[in-house]
Amino acid sequence: MGNETTEPHPSAPHVLVVGGSMAGLFCGVMLRARGWNVDIYERAEEQLASRGAGIATHDELYDAFEAAGVDLRAEMGVRSEGRIVFDAAGKVLGECAMHQVMTSWGFVYRFLRSKFPDAHYHSGHTLERLSQSADGVTAHFANGRSVRGDWLVGADGTRSAVRQAVLPEATVDYCGYFLWRGLIDEAAVPPEVLRQLAHRLVFSTSPRGHWLGYLVAGPGDDLRPGHRWYNWGWYRRADADALRQHLTGSDGRHYPLGIPHDRLQPQLVAAMRRAAAAELAPPVQAVIAATPQPFFQGIYEMSSARLVHGRVVLVGDAAFTARPHVGLGVSKAAVDATTLADALTAPQHAQALAAWEQQRLRYGQAAVRWGRELGSYIKAPADTPEYRAKAEHYARPDVLMTVTAASEPSRYLEL
Ligand SMILES: Cc1cc2nc3c(=O)[nH]c(=O)nc-3n(C[C@H](O)[C@H](O)[C@H](O)COP(=O)(O)OP(=O)(O)OC[C@H]3O[C@@H](n4cnc5c(N)ncnc54)[C@H](O)[C@@H]3O)c2cc1C
Repeated sequence: MGNETTEPHPSAPHVLVVGGSMAGLFCGVMLRARGWNVDIYERAEEQLASRGAGIATHDELYDAFEAAGVDLRAEMGVRSEGRIVFDAAGKVLGECAMHQVMTSWGFVYRFLRSKFPDAHYHSGHTLERLSQSADGVTAHFANGRSVRGDWLVGADGTRSAVRQAVLPEATVDYCGYFLWRGLIDEAAVPPEVLRQLAHRLVFSTSPRGHWLGYLVAGPGDDLRPGHRWYNWGWYRRADADALRQHLTGSDGRHYPLGIPHDRLQPQLVAAMRRAAAAELAPPVQAVIAATPQPFFQGIYEMSSARLVHGRVVLVGDAAFTARPHVGLGVSKAAVDATTLADALTAPQHAQALAAWEQQRLRYGQAAVRWGRELGSYIKAPADTPEYRAKAEHYARPDVLMTVTAASEPSRYLEL
């Protein structure tokens, strides 16, 4: 792993990384480990404490960490032994064993952040524009700073400003459904409910969607029973008007890029709770009832036609955003970064970078396709027999519980 105490040689190439989350930190750590100078520029002013999402782990994620010299298997989350699907009445529709560790976005973030030196991590830097020449690239930030480097990596997520500069035709598309989410202290869940739900990935089917939940590490990455969080999400079909309504705050403002949870209209939260009481299994209703402040997000996807644009390269969600059902975003970001570091530092880097781009384009396209398959029954189905057959297939409880955020995703990706 990159050694935060050893400074690369000043004459080594200098990479500007825009975005200091998963993909950006992986790039920073991997390039420093190869002796390059890296500075990360992150829009957020504060530490990116927790974005709340639970992360289902699988071999690819462990492999990516191992490539960075770390074995995280033992310590990165809460063990899940299997999966179970309930219907609205609480009847068990399916059950299977699937051993997996459920970690959290915050856990992985904090781990990576501790491996990258503070002096080269620049918070409060929002990229506004960039300019490049044959031998360098300059990033211009909203705070007035401009910085020049040999390469610039766009790791700034689904709505990437870097991608907007180099590939403005790429669009971020609403998938036709949204997600209610919650993250609560496990102690808030009634004990008899927690006994039923703990240590497995729980699904509850619902009309035009599904709910899922699992335990993750609690505050301070605490893995002790009684101190963890229960993480849940409820995917629900909704047209663009309903999305707009939900992204309009109690203050009347529209928040198209994401609504702060304290601005959610109370009547929409109440409507979600009423729908839960009618559509979801009783133990799941208890979890939602115990969640004081649910949060909300639309589900989007995005594909890039190219990843290398002169001296600018796209990675992570800035390159491809697949729907969350695939459970691949973090490992894709990690592999993008690790293999990019290999390509950039290869003796024949132009050829290596071209090969890298082809390989990561194939992977990103496959991940987006796979996410579409999994979400096919949630969005309003296209009216063709083929689509209806596909949607019916992925709505089946045995299929839903097997393929969602699978422990061996490579079995399903058509590369
Ligand atoms: C509900 C949900 C569940 C998920 N579950 C899983 C799972 O189980 N397994 C899994 O592997 N993945 C999962 N994912 C996906 C995973 O969270 C993402 O793929 C991953 O966070 C992408 O990392 P990234 O660094 O590319 O982008 P992001 O995490 O989006 O980070 C982008 C960063 O860039 C910064 N930024 C943006 N614009 C600018 C700018 N102009 N200038 C400077 N900085 C900027 C942002 O502040 C942010 O810090 C899930 C996602 C969701 C939404």
